[in-house]
Amino acid sequence: MCIFCKIVDGEIPSYKVYEDDVCIAILDISQATIGHTLVIPKKHFDNILDLDDETAMHLFKVTKNLSKHISKLDGVKGLNVLNNCGEKAGQSVNHFHIHVLPRYDNDEIKLLFPSNKLTNDEFISLLNKIKKGL
Ligand code: 5GP
Ligand code: ZN
Repeated sequence: MCIFCKIVDGEIPSYKVYEDDVCIAILDISQATIGHTLVIPKKHFDNILDLDDETAMHLFKVTKNLSKHISKLDGVKGLNVLNNCGEKAGQSVNHFHIHVLPRYDNDEIKLLFPSNKLTNDEFISLLNKIKKGL
């Protein structure tokens, strides 16, 4: 059984901030910033590619409500809401979860995206590739 399934079952303790029939939200053991929270479905899904629509909608609703609440905590200036899918993307626990990461002045988080400049033709070609079969 995976570590988050054990947390859901209560075999491993956690600091639970929210629970309903479908999911829990717990404080991340490594508080990347203070208030770092994970939204976790009770049922095991490896990652976002496995999620069913109903669970996905529910988790996003809970994440939205939790984000609103966390955004009001002292000193919070913004939030990153993110999911890592696959080892390459930094997923270390293979049970789907959403990070809610409050941001503060002078925190140590650096989320910098490189900028790739594409030509119009490259954008059109990319667009067609992604849209095909959607
Ligand atoms: P990932 O890297 O898969 O996107 O995120 C996994 C997260 O789970 C990490 O931020 C890590 O700190 C957290 N984590 C790993 N093990 C535990 C645990 O036993 N309890 C809690 N609360 N968080 C955990
Ligand atoms: Zn699991």
